[in-house]
Amino acid sequence: MPPAPGKHGLPSTTRAPAPKHQARRCENRANARERGYTKAWERFRDQHLKRHPLCEYCLADGRTTAASVVDHDLPHEHDPALFWANTFTSLCASHHSGEKQRAEATLSGDELLAWVQRRKHPRKVWGFSIPHGLQPSAIPVTIISGPPASGKSTWARQQSRPGDLVIDFDVIRRAVGGSKWDDRPEIIAAAFTRRGEMLHSLATRTEGRCWFIVMAPTQTERDTWQAALGPLSSVKVMDTPEDVCIERIGRDPDRAPVAARQIEAVRAWADEVAGSHASGA
Ligand SMILES: [Zn+2]
Repeated sequence: MPPAPGKHGLPSTTRAPAPKHQARRCENRANARERGYTKAWERFRDQHLKRHPLCEYCLADGRTTAASVVDHDLPHEHDPALFWANTFTSLCASHHSGEKQRAEATLSGDELLAWVQRRKHPRKVWGFSIPHGLQPSAIPVTIISGPPASGKSTWARQQSRPGDLVIDFDVIRRAVGGSKWDDRPEIIAAAFTRRGEMLHSLATRTEGRCWFIVMAPTQTERDTWQAALGPLSSVKVMDTPEDVCIERIGRDPDRAPVAARQIEAVRAWADEVAGSHASGA
């Protein structure tokens, strides 16, 4: 699809900005503070990028790209109240100046918000973190799924034998130079790349087994992973109760910096399980 300029006349990703736009940009910079881009915004922006380090549109397309912009889902121009009373999305520069601008050119208000939600959460399209072109594994793979602190890593360690491959994102994060719960965009992106290489290597391995740890909270997502990894793959779901996971998180000093987020993920997992039972799935 050829890039088209948005309604604000912002340049597309490849075209050099016209002089008119440059003038406008200078004017914008001068008024940046008046338009709401204050120190408070910078703090909010940094926090948001920590929580959502990857471009959320790229992620929905199955790509991992470090985000550089926190986008106002609704344009706040001409309405200072909308600057904070808004919802926000981490985007790469390309999606921010391209596809989002085009959406804003044709949609507004609730329609635009609905577009953003569909763009970010194509809920039925699970398995978004499966690397492109993944070939079926040539060795047995156990996909170990479960909420934080449900014992996935411990179980994998107990099952594995010398020569087996354990693929664990938290371990990979440290292997690529991050700290244990590092969520800097460059670390997350490097860890996804490294994990992709490990998953691709399964197609040509001849010995051992693989133990692959992944949250995968929905049945559909687990099925999608299993289909991608082929007939030698199976799924193990940790059935550790919600209260046990939360209690473990609470008493693990290592998890203190991410405890709130992990407890939230445990609760979301429990809701997902309850929901799938209620609907008979
Ligand atoms: Zn993007």
